[in-house]
Amino acid sequence: MNTFKPPTYKYCPMCGKGLTEIKVNGEAYQACSDRTACKWIRWEHTPITVAVIIRDLNNPERILLVKRNNEPFKGLWSLPAGFAEYGEMPSEAAKRELKEEVGLSASHLKLIGQYLESSHPKTFSILNVFAAEGITGNASPSDDAEDLAYYSWKSLPKMAFAGQVLAIDDFFK
Ligand SMILES: [Zn+2]
Repeated sequence: MNTFKPPTYKYCPMCGKGLTEIKVNGEAYQACSDRTACKWIRWEHTPITVAVIIRDLNNPERILLVKRNNEPFKGLWSLPAGFAEYGEMPSEAAKRELKEEVGLSASHLKLIGQYLESSHPKTFSILNVFAAEGITGNASPSDDAEDLAYYSWKSLPKMAFAGQVLAIDDFFK
């Protein structure tokens, strides 16, 4: 468990009235001030993110990284990664992000592990990291990426997300 708090809402997203705070089992939650008709309570959930490890076939100590072109962490490096969409399985999200970010397809994904990723300044996420095999396509950067490069896992460049670094270590050790 951690102490990160999501942003505070100003208005009820269901009816637009003001918000209040209520206690449920001793915990404080934002809730609609209309406690008779609307009764909305804000149950916050942790978003799911995914990241993919792709090894260089010519040098399996090296993995594919993208240089971020957007904030947060513009200019730092990351595995191909992103948020799962609503209702999307992490493995599906990983395949989609791989295609969108670096133009690659993977026939097989293996879950390396799940990590609490707290590097992002605006949200925590449950990071699901996969190793990809059966790669097809030519790696090319999308708009989200300024550059692509293979780096040895032993000498990574400045990485944006600490959870990814843990996963890379777990994968190779
Ligand atoms: Zn409401």
